[in-house]
Amino acid sequence: MELPKKPLREFKAKVLRVITETPTTKTLVFDTEGVDFDFYPGQYVMLSVPYAGELLRRAYSIASPPSQKGRLELTVKRTPNGRASVVLTQQTQEGQEFLIKGPYGKFVWVPEMGHRIVLIGAGSGIVPLMCILRHIASEGLEQVRATLLYSNTHYEEIIYREELERLGRLPNVKVVHTLTRSQPAHWEGYVGRINAHMLLREVEDVPNHLYYLCGPPQFVEDMAVMLAELGVEKSNIKKEKYD
Ligand SMILES: Cc1cc2nc3c(=O)[nH]c(=O)nc-3n(C[C@H](O)[C@H](O)[C@H](O)COP(=O)(O)OP(=O)(O)OC[C@H]3O[C@@H](n4cnc5c(N)ncnc54)[C@H](O)[C@@H]3O)c2cc1C
Repeated sequence: MELPKKPLREFKAKVLRVITETPTTKTLVFDTEGVDFDFYPGQYVMLSVPYAGELLRRAYSIASPPSQKGRLELTVKRTPNGRASVVLTQQTQEGQEFLIKGPYGKFVWVPEMGHRIVLIGAGSGIVPLMCILRHIASEGLEQVRATLLYSNTHYEEIIYREELERLGRLPNVKVVHTLTRSQPAHWEGYVGRINAHMLLREVEDVPNHLYYLCGPPQFVEDMAVMLAELGVEKSNIKKEKYD
């Protein structure tokens, strides 16, 4: 399905708030009041980040839903030994201005594309999937059925944990977690990497859904192979790789 392109914009925006999501992840809330900026759920922007006298351009998915006008949210996870992500998560303060350009990307979902969706993410790969879930909730899209399978290494690293808990209580949203390296004593989610067994338990009629995969390249490829083996057609699998 070809969607009309949203106009490309380039603008400076001030950081209004810095929210600590996990020990390694921050959400930056930008003031976009007065900027005519629109996008599809799942798209990303390019952010120019000052680093040692130069400007690094990095892609960041949009976390906030399109209906939230005037405030654009990006969620950044610190990459070990990374440059831009370290500046953004450790040195960025309220009031600072950044150059933003976008929206970009074909990893998008709108209800006309399909009402039964499965979102599969790892780590910061949750960001565009969260945008989709927030869009479903804020627009009251009750006819849509969404299942999220979200993989993290540790409980403390689950981004948007409390909000996901609330979203999972909606009648049309299911949130499923798995932890790969350590689990707290009270843990009721899955243990280990997302696999065919988990998917078959959580999703009825696997081939008849639209799939959105986001995270590290190897994770996305592994998930795509798994889905193909379960009979999902390539055209029903959308991928966003964070390399
Ligand atoms: C479409 C898209 C959307 C994205 N959305 C998000 C998002 O919403 N949230 C998010 O957190 N990230 C997102 N990313 C990833 C993001 O764009 C950056 O890649 C990430 O923040 C790391 O940038 P960095 O400058 O910190 O790392 P870099 O400095 O570019 O380093 C990246 C990696 O390379 C290694 N490295 C650096 N220098 C060297 C060297 N000289 N030799 C060998 N290895 C080296 C580092 O150890 C690190 O592991 C997205 C990526 C894409 C493509």
